Amino acid sequence: METTNEETAATQIAKETTSSKTLSRRELLGGLGVFGATMLLPKVLSAAPSKRTFTILHTNDLHSNFVGMSPASDYSPFTIGDDKTLGGYARLATLIRQRKEARQSLGPVLILDDGDYSMGTAFGAAIRETGGELQLLSHMGFDATTLGNHDFDLGPDGLSQAIDVAAKAGRVLPVVASNTHFDTNDATLVNIQRLAKLGLIRRHLVIERGGIRFGILGVLGKEAQFYTVGAGAATFSDPIETAKEMVEVLRETEKVDVVICLSHSGVLQGKDGRVTDGEDVRVAKAVPDIDILIGGHSHTALQEAIIVNDHTPVVQTGKYGENLGELVITLEGGKLKVESYRLIPIDDTIVGDQPLPRKSTSTSRPSPKLFSRRVVTASISRWPWHRGIFPTPSPTLPPAHHSPISSQTLSAKPPRPTSHSPPTE
Ligand SMILES: [Zn+2]
Repeated sequence: METTNEETAATQIAKETTSSKTLSRRELLGGLGVFGATMLLPKVLSAAPSKRTFTILHTNDLHSNFVGMSPASDYSPFTIGDDKTLGGYARLATLIRQRKEARQSLGPVLILDDGDYSMGTAFGAAIRETGGELQLLSHMGFDATTLGNHDFDLGPDGLSQAIDVAAKAGRVLPVVASNTHFDTNDATLVNIQRLAKLGLIRRHLVIERGGIRFGILGVLGKEAQFYTVGAGAATFSDPIETAKEMVEVLRETEKVDVVICLSHSGVLQGKDGRVTDGEDVRVAKAVPDIDILIGGHSHTALQEAIIVNDHTPVVQTGKYGENLGELVITLEGGKLKVESYRLIPIDDTIVGDQPLPRKSTSTSRPSPKLFSRRVVTASISRWPWHRGIFPTPSPTLPPAHHSPISSQTLSAKPPRPTSHSPPTE
């Protein structure tokens, strides 16, 4: 058996995501900062607070933007006030850590990504060899992601290789894909079927944290399905019908308190400039039992949550890690209320997390080769979009400066397909 680390990763996910009274009790007491916990335990557990608060930090459409993006300036995450770039995982890691620290004494914090985590920079071309996107999300503390259309760009086999390599490094997060089906008898699906058996890719997920049971599902919208050019033998079912099916499982069987839908579908701007429609909104409208919908795909920075059916917030952060979304919810008498929502810009007022590049490869010995030119160059030559479009990749790639992750030298955007260009990503 060669899957020791993968099985460890799968076991870890199972441990962290299934019901655990011990965990919630510890978290509850930790959150309250209680000493002499055993004395107070029966009282704390018997009197569940009537009003509880939790926070969701979220991203979408990161598209392998490991470094800050701007056409004319150098990204320098470890100093402030000297560049105009937005995004970059080193800053995102810092911000997530800071917001988690600020919020977790008030209740549980979930960190979620809405898919299209890959493709968009040359780093994405190396995902089969590095699983870098998934390793870094896992390192930053993300609890789950889903699949966007571009996460299939290297085919289902490429998708599974990325999850596989991240799992073998012991750094992978659950991928929740409820309406994507990998059950066709096809050689390119064998690996992903194996990963599904390990629970690394799954139809739903339960996280019990701070005494609240969260149920998570993930759907790829119909329009996004249409542009999933690399789906191969994978098939998709209707997002709304699937969401209804998953909600029933989560409510009836899993007895969750809160249902969260990761919907990679998108929103639309009306003629008046307001964003009130789109598939993400329609999914929330058609499935009222979804409590919270984390959206993506249309690259829309929603400064305010769209409230659907008078109770379901639909949120989205834009693209490329330019913002982190922070949604604060209160839960009282079985009813949820949006306490606040905001986008926090990821700019050079944030000092980037220094250890991130060094921690991104494995739990034990970081490999400097993860983002090496050799690996990226070798990968880019096999990139389907590369042939006949990019100049031949060669050692002429400019040398990296700063640390590997903060280098801008490998951040060229892939060209858009020339025909059938999707209106959204
Ligand atoms: Zn997309």
